Amino acid sequence: MKINEKDKYKLPKSRVVGPVIAYTLVFLIILGTIYAVVSILEDYVFNVRSESDMAEIKALGILYDTGSEKQREEILDRLTEQGRAYLVADKDGRILRSNGKITCEGYDPSEDQISDAAMMEFFEETKEIDAETNENLIRIGIDVKANNTFRLDDSEQRISSFGFLVRLGLDNADTLVDENATQMMVPYWIATGLVDSSQVLIVRNELPINGKDYLYLIAGVVLSIILAVFLFVIMIISVIRNLHANRKMKKIMFRDNIAPGRNWLWYVVHGREILLKRRNAAKTYAIVELVFIKYRNYVLCHSVKEAEELLRKVAEVITSKLGKGELCAHSTSSGLPLLLEVKGENDARERLEDMIRYLEEIPSPHTLSFRAGVYLVTPSKEDKFDADIDLLYNNACAAGLSIADNPDSGIAFFDDKLVEQEKWIDTISERQQGAIDNEEFLVYYQPKYDPRTDELMGAEALVRWNTSDMGLIPPYRFIPVFENNGFITKIDHYMVSHVARDQKKWLGEGRKCVPVSVNISRAHFSEDDLADQICSLVDKEGAPHELIEIELTESAFFDDKNAMLNTINKLKSHGFLISMDDFGSGYSSLNSLKDMPLDILKLDAGFFRGENTDQSRTEIVVSEAIRLAKSLNMKTVAEGVEDKAQVDFLASEGCDMIQGYYYAKPMPKEEFEQRIGAVSEIDETAPQV
Ligand code: C2E
Ligand code: CA
Ligand code: CA
Repeated sequence: MKINEKDKYKLPKSRVVGPVIAYTLVFLIILGTIYAVVSILEDYVFNVRSESDMAEIKALGILYDTGSEKQREEILDRLTEQGRAYLVADKDGRILRSNGKITCEGYDPSEDQISDAAMMEFFEETKEIDAETNENLIRIGIDVKANNTFRLDDSEQRISSFGFLVRLGLDNADTLVDENATQMMVPYWIATGLVDSSQVLIVRNELPINGKDYLYLIAGVVLSIILAVFLFVIMIISVIRNLHANRKMKKIMFRDNIAPGRNWLWYVVHGREILLKRRNAAKTYAIVELVFIKYRNYVLCHSVKEAEELLRKVAEVITSKLGKGELCAHSTSSGLPLLLEVKGENDARERLEDMIRYLEEIPSPHTLSFRAGVYLVTPSKEDKFDADIDLLYNNACAAGLSIADNPDSGIAFFDDKLVEQEKWIDTISERQQGAIDNEEFLVYYQPKYDPRTDELMGAEALVRWNTSDMGLIPPYRFIPVFENNGFITKIDHYMVSHVARDQKKWLGEGRKCVPVSVNISRAHFSEDDLADQICSLVDKEGAPHELIEIELTESAFFDDKNAMLNTINKLKSHGFLISMDDFGSGYSSLNSLKDMPLDILKLDAGFFRGENTDQSRTEIVVSEAIRLAKSLNMKTVAEGVEDKAQVDFLASEGCDMIQGYYYAKPMPKEEFEQRIGAVSEIDETAPQV
């Protein structure tokens, strides 16, 4: 199934509106049907019951027409005697005879006539055209104002032009209740045409409505109400069930036992909503990956359960520090994605520092440290990313990774340099193998001299990458990348082989061969056959082992000590020299010095670079380090020495060798070869100053 990028984190909405509309429609249709059926029935009953009255009035009309004036009077008197109101009107709306008071709207008593306006109004409203006779026909009409029912018989078209009369009312037309109250009498009016339809007689009648009729009516109404209520209840149940199912689904989808109910998906869905909402508001958000740095170690030292418990506390502390509309969720093992609303970079930094301070105070048997990688979503950047929170979070993680080597708490913000760095990593990672195959890596040699005699005592092999398009790339630009991606082991092998090959060649040429040290990366030390690997590489080239020195960086001595000792012993048994590189650059490894049978101690260049540090104190440390090395039977090499005063000081303290710009920078092989000239030329190879 293809997923639309924009919809990938949209959750199905609760279906409320659809069912409500559907049920309302059904509800209305049922009500309408009931109403229609009741009306038809009512009409039918009315027709049937009023049939005899209609026949009577019709007969009266015929009698009236055919009778003499006296007979007509008698007919009307009889109606009065029966208590039935009537009126006789002509075509112009003039009342010719009547009993009772006329209450018609538009009736003018002085003129005894209904106004033209009232007649017009009536005709506009109710006239119909009979298709066959093309005459106006008047049907039953109800004058609501007078609360009377009128019924006009038009079956013989005898009253076709008297439509206005239906608007007449008489004051004795109120609903009557029968004496014995068993039935109700509903008044209604029957009209019939007189004198060739030039007049009309309208007589008041009463239609009896009995208990049964009421029963049917009430039953109909009650049935309708029950049906309506039933439908309404079904609708409510269905909507509630829908909402419930939706909530349950969300609960399952967002399940997380560290930050309850707030997993990565929850973060993405809500974070996206927040970022999209801010479109028009100029707000800045910080997307943060907060990592509990030593989570894995914590799991190893304790248990998954305890580590998770701690992580839960971390999530709780962070949540307590969040404002409205900010998020904290749990994604991977030790990663907590956050979304903070901030005023800018400084505000974000202050808030995160404050948060981390609180987190570090969580009671624990270990020192806790946290790393925050931050990506700031500023108003100007919003369109570029279209709230693609995956990408934004990835940027935050990339920022975090840039300080991942540091075991202490820290905060890093994503910036464009990081993108450049990532691109660079990609570029060289793609080209690394090709560079080895094409021998693009060059061995540069930096000589080491005895400061007392200025005699060449050794050299360090340092790698350079000679590219056709980017020129000569220094090691700091690619060694850290190779250390991360593991390719460094190939570089180390390459260097060992090339140095051994050069030594073998120089020996054959009768040059003054001095031990050349090769850097072996710390990443390499996890391989327990490292000594054998180096041995076979050197043997393959046929160089004597004592001309190869292996430099191990100081920080590597903190790894598995036993493995380290094992490798050192093996290398030594093969006759290689071993040196500890960068001594004094990091945590002091005096303890390692005690245990490791090393040949050479390389004092870190940092000792000789510090302009702001107290020189006399530095000198004390350096001379003590030299003394310590001597008493452990180790030689010393001072790195990064650039001026004469330092050389003189080191000479006076008994430092064995100096490797620094004072004597020489790292140089290409050909240049170095001139320094180790043929045996016969030894005396001429004076150091360059
Ligand atoms: P390192 O092993 O500490 O090498 C010494 C670095 O200090 C070299 O930098 C060298 O050029 C520099 N240096 C020496 N004397 C002076 C001085 O007087 N002043 C100043 N400012 N610098 C001085 P380079 O060649 O750039 O190497 C940097 C780092 O790259 C090395 O530090 C080493 O850690 C790594 N590296 C170089 N080549 C290799 C290699 O083949 N394998 C491995 N694993 N790492 C290497
Ligand atoms: Ca080194
Ligand atoms: Ca060094």
